[in-house]
Amino acid sequence: MNRRTLSSIVAASLAACGPDALDRAPPSLETPEVAAALAIPEPTSIERHIRVLADDSLGGRAPGTAGFEGATRYVEETLRALGLAPAGVDGTYRQPVPLLGSTVVAATSALTVRRGGAVTELVYGEDFWLSPDPSREDVSVTGLVAFVGYGVSAPALGYDDYAGIDVSGKIVATISGAPPAFPSDERAYYSSGSVKAAEAARRGAVGLMVFSAPDDPRFRWEVSVARAAGGSFTWLDASGQPPGGASPIRGSASLNRSAVDALFADAPIPLDEVFRRAASSTPQGFDLAVEATVRTVSDHRRVPSHNVVARLEGSDERLRGENVVYVAHVDHLGTGVPVDGDSIYNGAHDNASGVAILLEIARAFSSLAMPPRRSVVFLFPTAEEWGLLGSDYFAENPTVPASSLVAALSLDMPFLFHPLLDIVPYGADHSSLSDAIGAAARRLALDIGPDPIPEQVLFIRSDHFSFIRRGVPALFLKSGFRTGSSTRDGAEINAAWRRDVYHTPRDEADQGFDFVAGVTHAQVNFLTGYVVAMQGARPRWNRGDFFGGLFGG
Ligand SMILES: [Zn+2]
Repeated sequence: MNRRTLSSIVAASLAACGPDALDRAPPSLETPEVAAALAIPEPTSIERHIRVLADDSLGGRAPGTAGFEGATRYVEETLRALGLAPAGVDGTYRQPVPLLGSTVVAATSALTVRRGGAVTELVYGEDFWLSPDPSREDVSVTGLVAFVGYGVSAPALGYDDYAGIDVSGKIVATISGAPPAFPSDERAYYSSGSVKAAEAARRGAVGLMVFSAPDDPRFRWEVSVARAAGGSFTWLDASGQPPGGASPIRGSASLNRSAVDALFADAPIPLDEVFRRAASSTPQGFDLAVEATVRTVSDHRRVPSHNVVARLEGSDERLRGENVVYVAHVDHLGTGVPVDGDSIYNGAHDNASGVAILLEIARAFSSLAMPPRRSVVFLFPTAEEWGLLGSDYFAENPTVPASSLVAALSLDMPFLFHPLLDIVPYGADHSSLSDAIGAAARRLALDIGPDPIPEQVLFIRSDHFSFIRRGVPALFLKSGFRTGSSTRDGAEINAAWRRDVYHTPRDEADQGFDFVAGVTHAQVNFLTGYVVAMQGARPRWNRGDFFGGLFGG
């Protein structure tokens, strides 16, 4: 038997037990080459990158500002020095992302509630705030208000707030979030404002109102109002329109408790009971005996921005046309409402830290004597803070063929306040990427834990989700709560940071980061992407997976 006969027999028997069976075996992570790459990321480099990007001189890196330009130029220069190829447009590292900025004009916008003959004018900023309309500079809507619980219709999960209520022509009021009984990632998906708006629009609703349960840790009124005052962005397509065009939802209000009390004054079920049912994942929906008018006046302005993209060409002729994408957003909130006299939202953790770690991952990949078999794309998007816009734009208009995107890994404030001992891999439950993260964690002796904070709905809150929505399996690795110290409670540290620092000017470079934990994050993300880039078979959605079924085709 000659070699050719043997290999054709092997090929035939492999074909019999499925395509790429041999190729599916994970690559060894116990090689000198991998060990050398793991030694590349350094705490001092991560610290240096964070200090540059979070410096006051870059003014919080908001899209359309000199600070954003300065931050992306720094990222480009670092990538160029590593010898990574430009993968934006026209041979540059940049992919232009045309944005439309919209800000509500509070003085002329209004929310009015009528009950019988009584008319209540609510006060902007105290009782409510409005989301700007990116398609219409002055738009009004009047309708009866229907309360629809979380505003969730999830037949596959046996849950429907809309059962038995017709909301056509009405304004729907919903509680933020989604039923706690849902699995973590499904809960996150159904908590998304855009998913709720699409469901409401599908049922003929013309307006939206949202309010939070008293125990929802994600929202504080003053922080939300301050944030909203800075306006929002959407990206524009080639014809200069927001994706999807003008929404059938003609007004979108966020309500403070005072406004909710006004709506529920004569409700058939009192508000306390409504919150109790929501907390116990009981579907609910009923008409409120009120009519509301929402008038939204928005200022529009064009804001050119850009993603930064680099690429390392793979070494395998057969696989180099496929791309593993790493993503870490460069933008942050810029300047805004001062806190303790400081108006610069530096975003050191959110997300200078993720960019810094990704630059070290890029350095580890460029240090390999031979690149991995697949190509690796390093994407630094704009406008994540306004709804994952830069990554959404890239996923919709990739600078490499869309079908070549095999997996995405997101780095976004991985949590650098204690050593990294256990990781929470958002997305791992849904695809074969669980094997890659499992191998990476084993190599570093890290434990893998379940989502400790499902109420934070993290699965939809970073750039990996832009890829999930296009059917590309993706991961978002965060630190678990183990600190390695009996006197430091990881859950408490996390909750306190989200309460006191997150999205405030206090997110600065000097807040006691554990830069060694940053190195471990770089290593575990490097290894995960390395496994995916080396393995013969591309990642697959799990059979019957919720997100694979929804988006994976
Ligand atoms: Zn953020």
